[in-house]
Amino acid sequence: MALQDYIKKRQFNKTPEPKGELDNNNAYRFVIQRHQASHLHYDLRLEMEGVLKSWAVPKGPSMNPSDKRLAIMTEDHPVKYLTFHGVIPKGNYGAGVMDIWDEGTYQVLEDEDPVKQLKNGDLKIEFYGKKIKGAFALVKMKRDIEKNQWLLIKKKDPFSTDLHYDAEIFASKKKSS
Ligand code: MN
Repeated sequence: MALQDYIKKRQFNKTPEPKGELDNNNAYRFVIQRHQASHLHYDLRLEMEGVLKSWAVPKGPSMNPSDKRLAIMTEDHPVKYLTFHGVIPKGNYGAGVMDIWDEGTYQVLEDEDPVKQLKNGDLKIEFYGKKIKGAFALVKMKRDIEKNQWLLIKKKDPFSTDLHYDAEIFASKKKSS
């Protein structure tokens, strides 16, 4: 737990990313960052337990319930990462441009405790973002070989769509400052 892995992977005199500090506000904030690293992916981060629980979503989130988006759990990030965007310089872990694609707050459904749902590998989340809204499931895959692999799935609700959904269409392509 905590931020040892985050700290271990980074040299803070060489990257503009925030230092690895705990923040126990646990204000149920989330961010989704578009991360143009060696492979484009989206990073979903949920604030809980003093950190941001993080998943890399190669195809980005979808508002279409028929899409099951692979979400690979990655190391916990510090809460300050909620507002991070910019360029991680070449030679650093995750080098490339990071933009904030969506942000807001979330709640978990059926249970007041997101940490418990996380441990059970079955998060039922309500998102209050600008692009990502309404009910989602974030479910851990069962096979041992897939231990970091989860699926992010939109639930059918007034916010969901039956149309093809591509997160890239909603990404601003302007360069990060
Ligand atoms: Mn990333």
